[in-house]
Amino acid sequence: MSPAPAGSIAGRIAGTVRADIRELAAYPVAHAEGCIKLDAMECPYELPETVREDIARAVRDTPLNRYPAADLSALRQAVKSAFGVPEAADVLFGNGSDELIHLVVQACCNPGDAVLSPWPSFVYFDMAARFDHARFIGVPLTQDLELDLPAMLAAIREHQPKVVFLAVPNNPTGGLWPDEAIAAIIAAAPGLVVLDEAYQPFAGSTWMPRVLDAPNVVVMRTVSKIGLAGLRFGYLAGHPAWIAEFDKVRPPYNLDVLTQATLSAVLRHKAVLDEQAARLRADREPLAAALARLPGVRVFPSAGNFVLVRFSGKLDGNAVHLALKTRKILIRNFSNAHPLLANCLRISVGAPAENAALLSALQEILSA
Ligand code: PMP
Repeated sequence: MSPAPAGSIAGRIAGTVRADIRELAAYPVAHAEGCIKLDAMECPYELPETVREDIARAVRDTPLNRYPAADLSALRQAVKSAFGVPEAADVLFGNGSDELIHLVVQACCNPGDAVLSPWPSFVYFDMAARFDHARFIGVPLTQDLELDLPAMLAAIREHQPKVVFLAVPNNPTGGLWPDEAIAAIIAAAPGLVVLDEAYQPFAGSTWMPRVLDAPNVVVMRTVSKIGLAGLRFGYLAGHPAWIAEFDKVRPPYNLDVLTQATLSAVLRHKAVLDEQAARLRADREPLAAALARLPGVRVFPSAGNFVLVRFSGKLDGNAVHLALKTRKILIRNFSNAHPLLANCLRISVGAPAENAALLSALQEILSA
């Protein structure tokens, strides 16, 4: 049978797929072959041979013919003790924390219910809310890209959000919201507050020990930024009663056996992950200082493994981004993403040689 003519498929899609989805572009992932990759906050270091051998052994011994086991209590315990989750809290596993963001919105929001976050922040808070028929409210940061607490409290009063997402540290700005501001938002929020600590390993502070203190808080983490972005694993920690609700909307077997096996093996070497994160954290300030010395460059303070930089010299953000791309250096361009991010580029902290290559390329580009 010959395939249906394209025209008739387009008509069927127009009449079937949601108009808002048809207008979207899929989440962009840059082609990175042969490039210095400083665009996605990955850890630039590969795991040492001993860890890889452990992983290979664990994967080899994992049967693939059966669905993942029902009882994940051993992995749950390993995750809890590796990452300092309080004993009385429970954890829900996700195929990356992206999946967990969906699960929370799906479980909490009726169509049209509000999901709120300071803005700009992680784009997927907005995307997941839209996909799941919620109404996304982004509360603008200040001109200096700090949290606007009075605006947040007013928006919470006005919109009564089911879910508030707070990325701490924030992506893409790098800001770490003060504890008192977080506490005020938790106290004001009528629903759930999700503290997204994706970049916590580079910040040094965490809400995790307090996750059970208020009745409306969960803490979300990922292993993507500490060396395991290829694995797709995130977890949500909170009171077992909250976790039990989210577990109901989790797709069956969302955590595959190879991810489970790999993670169990890597967590036996957790110190390696910590050491890699510590190196990136130590390299952040020298990189930020060197960037700040370039002409026309403003560096925003960051507690993550990246820095947000504004270019206000002869070249605008788009031009600098393109010039780096031509030199095979990938960073993320936010110039056109939000008025508060005009001419802003986000640079992940890389390995020392990568940071040096970036700095010398920028020197060349900005002095041309
Ligand atoms: N939260 C924040 C704040 C992020 O920046 C990201 C990744 N860019 C995620 C969550 C998602 O992480 P992952 O799905 O890789 O676990």
